[in-house]
Amino acid sequence: MPTPGMDGYVEPWRKPEHDDLAELARAFFTKEVLPHAERLEQQGHPDREHYRRAGELGLLGLSIPEEYGGGGGDFTHEAVLLHEQTLAGEGSLGIAVHSGIVTGYINEYGSEEQKQRWLPGLVSGELIGAIAITEPDGGSDVQAIRTKAIRDGDDYVVNGSKTFITNGILADLLVLAVKTDTSARAHGISLLICELTGDPEGFRRGRKIEKIGLHSNDTAELFFDDFRVPAANLLGTEGSGFIQMMQQLPQERLVIGVGAVAAMQRAVEMATAYAKERTAFGKPLLGHQNTRMVLADVATRTRVSRTFLDDCIQRHARGELDVATAAMAKLYLTEGQCEVVDRCLQIFGGYGYTTEYPISKMYADARVQKIYGGTNEIMKELISRVL
Ligand SMILES: Cc1cc2nc3c(=O)[nH]c(=O)nc-3n(C[C@H](O)[C@H](O)[C@H](O)COP(=O)(O)OP(=O)(O)OC[C@H]3O[C@@H](n4cnc5c(N)ncnc54)[C@H](O)[C@@H]3O)c2cc1C
Repeated sequence: MPTPGMDGYVEPWRKPEHDDLAELARAFFTKEVLPHAERLEQQGHPDREHYRRAGELGLLGLSIPEEYGGGGGDFTHEAVLLHEQTLAGEGSLGIAVHSGIVTGYINEYGSEEQKQRWLPGLVSGELIGAIAITEPDGGSDVQAIRTKAIRDGDDYVVNGSKTFITNGILADLLVLAVKTDTSARAHGISLLICELTGDPEGFRRGRKIEKIGLHSNDTAELFFDDFRVPAANLLGTEGSGFIQMMQQLPQERLVIGVGAVAAMQRAVEMATAYAKERTAFGKPLLGHQNTRMVLADVATRTRVSRTFLDDCIQRHARGELDVATAAMAKLYLTEGQCEVVDRCLQIFGGYGYTTEYPISKMYADARVQKIYGGTNEIMKELISRVL
């Protein structure tokens, strides 16, 4: 059933193959992962087995070329998958980072040998990917990172720490932002691929960070103490890390936007259904004018957001999504998500504040969308630069 207010709307890029993918993804999330939701929330991280199963079904690395085991598709396929995950209410698997970000870095900047070495494992779900940029001293000022990697023979010796790393507890493969030239800012940054299986010497995972939402997805601190990474694991050339991140961040922001719109759609669906069945003062909530006005507002916001998102997805598929437009998407869509989910929660009254109703979880999960991937204040800074 379409989201109320979106009857007849079809994403302009959508083809029958996207419908098949959506069906497969929906069945996987709802039948295979969601039945474990409560346990996963308590455990604080997803099951490895679910990554493997997603890989087996062909749901990981949808935009990675087939020669590395991927789906051979493009960003539209990743967008369908992430949309279905959020729409289903599944939040344990860090696919947005694993497939939406990490595989992209390796595919874009990796040498042929690096791609053959790591992409098949990421696509099959044998390897879980993460990306570590943020440090305890600050995340917004990426150029000021302090984790350093000093060349020693055929290795880099890494010292420093990272925090708030999504998939950090389970990650086997890490895209790590380091300073290879500590005297430089942007030009001193490089990306190293770290193999973390078995927690090698010099590497330590810190505590699992307790959050107000996203309880079933792991977020961790990572520590590097004379941790040796083969120089062959450098992604691209020394000093090109900042440019690589700037090139990849628009996709990361779009990934966040996809989740934002899916959450808006889900909230509108749930609130509309509730407003039809719950009665107050002898009639359904929908019979009260204010409820109708609120639902009309959120449905409009959601549909407008969807069309802007689709425009960005099309631009990205053509390789034309610029930094400012991606920042606008991240800003507008995540502000919209928080507002829409908040207003939908209100329609549930007291039940909206109980954990029994999923809208409360959506409210807590939404908040971080305005923070990670570059805060919304930084998005405004980026947008202002093209004005
Ligand atoms: C659940 C979660 C998952 C995350 N996953 C990852 C991950 O996988 N990998 C990763 O590397 N990071 C990750 N992050 C980190 C996230 O990207 C950072 O938290 C974010 O970039 C902000 O950095 P900070 O927390 O250090 O805040 P700060 O940089 O300390 O900012 C604090 C406040 O100051 C504002 N501010 C800073 N500079 C300016 C400015 N110039 N103008 C105006 N306002 C400014 C910010 O907008 C913010 O409101 C995650 C965070 C969370 C909470």
